[in-house]
Amino acid sequence: MQSLSDATAKVDDITSDITISGGQQSAVGVLNASGCGNVLLLCEHASNFIPSEYDNLGISQTDSETHIAWDIGALELAKVISVKLDAPLVASNVSRLVYDCNRSSDANDAIVVCADCVIIPTNQALSEAQRQHRVDSVYQPFRRTVEQLLRHRRTQSQVTIIVTIHSFTPVFNNKFRDVEIGLLHDSDSRLADAMLSNAALISPRVVKRNEPYGPTDNVTHSLKIYGIEHNLANVMIEVRNDLLSTTDEITKRAEEILTLLCPAVEQLTSGKQGAHNA
Ligand SMILES: [Zn+2]
Repeated sequence: MQSLSDATAKVDDITSDITISGGQQSAVGVLNASGCGNVLLLCEHASNFIPSEYDNLGISQTDSETHIAWDIGALELAKVISVKLDAPLVASNVSRLVYDCNRSSDANDAIVVCADCVIIPTNQALSEAQRQHRVDSVYQPFRRTVEQLLRHRRTQSQVTIIVTIHSFTPVFNNKFRDVEIGLLHDSDSRLADAMLSNAALISPRVVKRNEPYGPTDNVTHSLKIYGIEHNLANVMIEVRNDLLSTTDEITKRAEEILTLLCPAVEQLTSGKQGAHNA
C-alpha cells in the first residue's frame, strides 16, 4: 500500500530524484537540489498520484488520468529545463485534486468539489479536520521545501528567479484555446515582460500574456509567496498540453521556452537588479 510521508527535512536530505517507485511516497520531490543556476523551478501540478487513503477520491481511474488531476507533460518539461539550466526543481508528488499546491490554505478552490464538469465525490462537505489534514500532508511539505531552498540559496548568495511550469488542456468548457504558451504574472511583470519581448524568436508559436489564466483566476499564489514576497523576479509558464504529447515535442517546447527565458534571466541578473534574494 502506498502511503504519504513528509520527507522534507533539510535541503541536504531532500531526495535527488523525483521518480516515484512503489512503497513509501513523499508529498514533495526535489530534483537537482544543489543546482547552481539562477532559476528555481516549481511544478505544483506534476503528479496525478492520489494516496490510497482517499480511495481515488471517488472518481474513475480514467478521470484521474486526465488534466483535471494533473498538468500532463509539465513534469517532463520541467525536468528538461532543470537539466539545461542546472536549476533545482520542486515538484508536488500528489494530485491537485487532493490539494492544489498553487492555492493558499484558505482558498475555496484549494480542494475542488468539481473539476471541468467532473464531480469529485470525496471532496464534498469535508470537515475542517479533513481539510487541515490535506493542508498538513500535501501543501505544507511543498511550501516548506521551497522555502528551505530559498533560504539555502540566500545563504549561498545565490541569485534566484522563480519559474513555475504548468500545462493546460486545449479545450475547456467546450471552447478551443488558441494560446500555445502563456506567460503569467501578478504585480511583478519583469520576467514576463522580458520573455514576451522575445516572443517573435519562436514564431509562429502563439505566446500570450496572462492566458489562458491570469491573476484574477487565483493562479498566482506561488508567484506571490515565493517570488513577490521575497522580491524575486518570477513567472508562471503554461503550455498547451497537446504540444507536450511526445518526448520530442517536450524537448522542442523546452528549447522554445529557453529561447525566451535565458535572455530574460540574463537581462534581469546582469547588474543583479531586482533578482537578488531580499
Ligand atoms: Zn497547473
